[in-house]
Amino acid sequence: ITILGIESSCDDTAAAVIRDEVLLSNIISSQKVHESYGGVVPELASRAHQQNIIPVVDEALKKAGVTKDEITAIAFTRGPGLMGSLLVGTSFAKGLAAALDIPMMDINHLQAHVLAHFIKEDKEDTNQPSFPFLCLLVSGGNSQIIVVKSHKEMEIIGQTIDDAAGEAFDKCAKVMGLGYPGGPIVNKLANQGNPDRFKFNKPHIAGYDYSFSGLKTSFLYFLRDELKNDPGFIEKNKEDLCASLQKTIIDILMDKLRKAAKDLNIKEVAVAGGVSANSGLRDAFEDHSKKYGWKIHIPKFGYTTDNAAMVAISGYYKYQDNEFCEMDAAPFARVTV
Ligand code: ATP
Ligand code: FE
Repeated sequence: ITILGIESSCDDTAAAVIRDEVLLSNIISSQKVHESYGGVVPELASRAHQQNIIPVVDEALKKAGVTKDEITAIAFTRGPGLMGSLLVGTSFAKGLAAALDIPMMDINHLQAHVLAHFIKEDKEDTNQPSFPFLCLLVSGGNSQIIVVKSHKEMEIIGQTIDDAAGEAFDKCAKVMGLGYPGGPIVNKLANQGNPDRFKFNKPHIAGYDYSFSGLKTSFLYFLRDELKNDPGFIEKNKEDLCASLQKTIIDILMDKLRKAAKDLNIKEVAVAGGVSANSGLRDAFEDHSKKYGWKIHIPKFGYTTDNAAMVAISGYYKYQDNEFCEMDAAPFARVTV
């Protein structure tokens, strides 16, 4: 079976084709219009999706060497995400499915980030997590600890009560005047800095939940005070600031994850979402693997941020169980429990 996956939840227009679990093509068009605004502008995102979706799908099919008539089913991201963005991918998927008279599978974007671990680049690719495993999902909008029991059954045991980890990176970067998205910029500067130079408070929250808004505020106040004494403080110390900030975020993430792994006695641990591109977080996973005997799963860089390969593979599992969606399936911006 051949599945076309479509992702348009935020500011990346993406399409991918898989055939029997194996990835044939994976095309992403990242929107550049938002950079000068320091964040994603929903209206512009939606408009850019409209411009990109046909060329992106076209290229995905071409690269895969697949014609429209060879597509067995279409998987699309239904939510969560930006409503205007989701509408473009959803409407396009429906139109194409109707025209080709093939079934559709609606995909939860967050589950898709987790299932990115099951993308196969070739048939011999067997390095996939076995169930149950823990997944730390850290992206621009979410920070969750998930017990993954099967391709479909995922239990969120902890999540952020305010900002996501990616947001903490982005907002603190913005405060330093570093540009958007801040995560990769902070990561790069952090590589040249001293992570123990500055100390920032970590939140005290029960269970496996996270909180990052306090860190953002204390970072802001700290800089404000330092800038009073020395207007060049940020410029002079940006490497150490980034390294210390990154270390604090990673420590917060790993403390809870380690607790969950210990309490539940699960030693297979994965990481997913845009922040899993962070080299410090990847190193922390390697350390935990050595120290605690974790079997770790770290996605390839291309599968950390938004992509359609993860949507296509999620669709593949739904297709196996005949879990199709109807033409009136409306996108959802938020997860409603
Ligand atoms: P969600 O999936 O929750 O809807 P999203 O799709 O916008 O959110 P992703 O695309 O998965 O999020 O991830 C984007 C986030 O990842 C941004 O906050 C970005 O700063 C962060 N990020 C990307 N690379 C790195 C990095 N190397 N270090 C830290 N953060 C990073
Ligand atoms: Fe995402």
